[in-house]
Amino acid sequence: MKMPSKFNTYCPYCRDHEVHEVEKVKKGKSRGLNWIDRQKARRGAVGNRGKFSKVPGGDKPTKKINVRYRCTKCGKAHLRKGFRLAKFELAE
Ligand SMILES: [Zn+2]
Repeated sequence: MKMPSKFNTYCPYCRDHEVHEVEKVKKGKSRGLNWIDRQKARRGAVGNRGKFSKVPGGDKPTKKINVRYRCTKCGKAHLRKGFRLAKFELAE
């Protein structure tokens, strides 16, 4: 899908329709601080690691994409619910 890099849409801060710039949200750095990561670390590297021994079932054909909408008037950005796309492009 090609998405316009700028378009007019609702800004929740200005409470009005303003021109917004579109930016893709980058994937955050995994810091390994989730409980599942700690649990995985406790199992060790040798032997049966229970549910962590399972081979992953494979990837979904499309990836969910988060897009940030930045208002050109107030400079604040807001997010909307992510959507699934095979390909994401920003048109000029
Ligand atoms: Zn605004």
